[in-house]
Amino acid sequence: MTHIENITLKAFKYRLYPTKAQESALDTTLILCQRLYNGMLEERRGAYKKAGKSLTAYDQMKSLPEVKAALPEYAGVNAQVLQDVAKRLDKSFKGFFRRIKAGQKAGYPRFRGRDRYDSFTYPQPSQNSVIGDGKHVYLPKIGNVRIRLHRPCAGKLKTLAVKREGREWYVVLTCEVPRAEPLPATGSEVGIDVGTTWFYTTSDGEFCENHRFFQRSSRKLRVAQRSLARKPNKRSNRRKKAKERVAKLCRKTARSRLQLHHEEAKKLITNHDLICHEDLNVKGMAQGNLSKQIHDVGWGQFFQILSSKAAEAGRRVIAVDPRFTSQRCRICGHTEKGNRASQANFRCLSCGHSENADVNAAKNILAQGLRFVAQRTSQEDACHEKPQPAGLG
Ligand SMILES: [Zn+2]
Repeated sequence: MTHIENITLKAFKYRLYPTKAQESALDTTLILCQRLYNGMLEERRGAYKKAGKSLTAYDQMKSLPEVKAALPEYAGVNAQVLQDVAKRLDKSFKGFFRRIKAGQKAGYPRFRGRDRYDSFTYPQPSQNSVIGDGKHVYLPKIGNVRIRLHRPCAGKLKTLAVKREGREWYVVLTCEVPRAEPLPATGSEVGIDVGTTWFYTTSDGEFCENHRFFQRSSRKLRVAQRSLARKPNKRSNRRKKAKERVAKLCRKTARSRLQLHHEEAKKLITNHDLICHEDLNVKGMAQGNLSKQIHDVGWGQFFQILSSKAAEAGRRVIAVDPRFTSQRCRICGHTEKGNRASQANFRCLSCGHSENADVNAAKNILAQGLRFVAQRTSQEDACHEKPQPAGLG
């Protein structure tokens, strides 16, 4: 089993350019999978209501030949793709039962409408799915579909999913790749304070800009949204076009943001062994008046990317309690709202220490993270216990 620890799954997503005929086959496959999903859900409900019996994914897979015999159109869909529908439904049931067991709010798995069913999966694709020339991908029962391999795909192909996003089609190849070697130690530790003026500020006094691309695309998006609002007729073609444009701009913005989050996280991980950030209840904060900016900057996503990159590289990320980090003087510890002379400037009312407010906060965050590490280490020495992962990002 040891070799398993050295591999990890990585997803590669590429745009597909199907021909008209292929697009119609893809659409049909999605519709048939969606119907099958809803049918199997109905079957599970019925079996439970009538006989108090829970069906498994295996039970449902066994009845697929009957489905095919009764509904010949299903012969046009790859058998493994259909089996995966049963597994997908099973997953949502397992999630439902797990949440109930954990005492959380749990919604019974729902029927999915056309808009809520946008992908299908080949669970055991051929290793040669991407065809020799790198310009096509082989999708059983659909054909060789043109693909744009904008970055190379690597590793052993595990699953292949086809996804519809608006009018665009994508393929997601999930591959087993060797885990990256841990990065060499740098001896550097850093605290970062995220904000709306700057994307983040480090305890070393570096300011990372809030990316302007977003303001630009958000202007475009606002214009598109307004234009959509002016077309109330749900059936009109122009409304449909306007809606597609909004969705397209949203996707584009999300893509650029994701890419930038990856770049910024990589920079931090390369340069520091330990990164401390605020444990933001991003959701809670997003309800306040800063909601739009916070939503835009998407710190939740950023911290997630940071953590996963850190884990791969053998770095540590610690989320610290964010309370008072912006009001506390990092020199004397005096904590008061009035220390914040302005949005940008910190001036301690007790000792007079003055500094950029975000840098002061970032230094507090780093100090808090280091205290946490020291505590853990001393506890470990005292009772030879492994530290709990709680609090670690
Ligand atoms: Zn002070």
